[in-house]
Amino acid sequence: MSNYAPLPVSFVSGHGATLLDEKGVEYLDALGGIAVCLLGHAHPEVQAAIADQAARVIHTSNLYHIPLQEKLADKLIAHSGLEKVVFGNSGAEANEAAIKLARLHAHHRSISAPVIVVMNNSFHGRTMATLSATGSVKAQKGFDPLVPGFVHIPYNDIEALTNLANRHDIVAVMVEPIQGEGGINVPTPGFLKAIRDFCDQQQALMIVDEVQTGMCRTGKWFAFQHEDILPDVMTLAKALANGVPIGACLARGDAAGLFQPGSHGSTFGGNPLAARAGLAVIDVLEREQLEQRAAELGEMMLNGFRQNLSGLEGVADIRGRGMMLGIELEHECAELVNLALDHHLLINVTAGKVVRLLPPLVMTAAEVETVVTRVSELVTKFLQDKS
Ligand code: PLP
Repeated sequence: MSNYAPLPVSFVSGHGATLLDEKGVEYLDALGGIAVCLLGHAHPEVQAAIADQAARVIHTSNLYHIPLQEKLADKLIAHSGLEKVVFGNSGAEANEAAIKLARLHAHHRSISAPVIVVMNNSFHGRTMATLSATGSVKAQKGFDPLVPGFVHIPYNDIEALTNLANRHDIVAVMVEPIQGEGGINVPTPGFLKAIRDFCDQQQALMIVDEVQTGMCRTGKWFAFQHEDILPDVMTLAKALANGVPIGACLARGDAAGLFQPGSHGSTFGGNPLAARAGLAVIDVLEREQLEQRAAELGEMMLNGFRQNLSGLEGVADIRGRGMMLGIELEHECAELVNLALDHHLLINVTAGKVVRLLPPLVMTAAEVETVVTRVSELVTKFLQDKS
């Protein structure tokens, strides 16, 4: 079907932050499959784990215990401070589980028409419920009727949130700790804490969608850890198994006990292959302390871009955290993706005007410098041509 408009290139192999096309031409990957390939391409340990697991057993069923899944859950719990996990296969599916938890939480409190607070410019997925939660009219267009039970407020707007305090149907607030698709929007300090306080007062669940931010990308294991808070529910996917499809919904407290046999499930969710890949990823993240590396390399990139581009006419903002960066221009700039491709560099433009970089954490310092130089040159030239 025509729901994608692929760029005129395809890749057949890779290593680290490099991808090779059919002719053997190398591309520097500053997008990592949209925040998926955290450890780059063909990482030896992930590769070996997948091969070994494939030779044992790929899939059994959640009808039986899956020790690898339980081990992966324990790791995620240890790093996040949450208590229980349910696995699926994607970010949207993880968020579906979170939304279902919020509905169960509501019904336990005898709220029959529950409402979840979500943010403008958010992105939570493409299934009907997650699309309805998503704060993008463009993404929702044509798919009416949407799933009811969501109210949108502006990101970073504490007043808009507290204005909802007298509503008794609010059962959860769902938020990306840094908005990804919405344009790498980093919350102002205190915003996530204000959501935590609001949820405590309202007996509502704080759900953080870490599908794009999770697994060390932003300089912490999870982006909510930049503030002194603990959510009730957290969702993960993308980088969790470096490209093997997996999603996870974690919960603590009452929320962790809501699902009972029969209330949720997924055929593939957390199968031995995906769980083994996830464990291999976590082993590497732990051993190499890649959250620190993400913070350091991200700082390098941010400083590089600020040096090269700050003050340039047409550059609105340069922002990000760790290896999640955005350069907002004053003009629509989707064509920069093609221009970068011509220079053998993979980047993305989101929200129309924001150059988005989500590089693998294993990028070398020299590669980071190359990204900074190439992107800065491309943006400068692009803006010159516009003026
Ligand atoms: N949540 C966030 C924050 C995302 O960035 C995405 C995908 O970009 C999703 C959810 C949906 O994930 P998936 O495409 O795996 O369903």
